[in-house]
Amino acid sequence: MGMDVYGIKPTSDIGKVFRRNVWGWHSLWEYIEHEYPEIACKVDSPHTNDGGSLNKKDSLLLSDKINNDFKIGKIRIYVEECQKFLDSLPDVDCYACLGFGVTRSGVFHPSKGVCRQCQGKGKARPYAYNYLPRIDDLVEFSLFLKECGGFKIL
Ligand SMILES: [Zn+2]
Repeated sequence: MGMDVYGIKPTSDIGKVFRRNVWGWHSLWEYIEHEYPEIACKVDSPHTNDGGSLNKKDSLLLSDKINNDFKIGKIRIYVEECQKFLDSLPDVDCYACLGFGVTRSGVFHPSKGVCRQCQGKGKARPYAYNYLPRIDDLVEFSLFLKECGGFKIL
């Protein structure tokens, strides 16, 4: 599943659509909720594909804020802090094999059923690891915001 964010009145191709998978979108929007709650709260249900929107004026304002955050290194620090937190989490039971290290068929045919997710170790990084924010996503979203003329999440 992915998130498609469409420009309402785009002024260029960049402003037509911004797409991310759910992991990329959620972590990107969490940055905005964390840093700019006064703008984030204007978008209804930003973590779903239900048509939440932001007008042109606020999109331009958010674009400038994100762009400035990138220039002064604020985004890099945020991403590094998220990475540090995720690195501090212990491994958990593999969610694919529930910690047994084998698939269901591996119970009867151990040589054929090693869990591909954990290579048979039974442990894996926590699922939260998929939600590490990316600097490039925020920079690209800032460019989209500048030229989208307001957006709608579908
Ligand atoms: Zn496994």
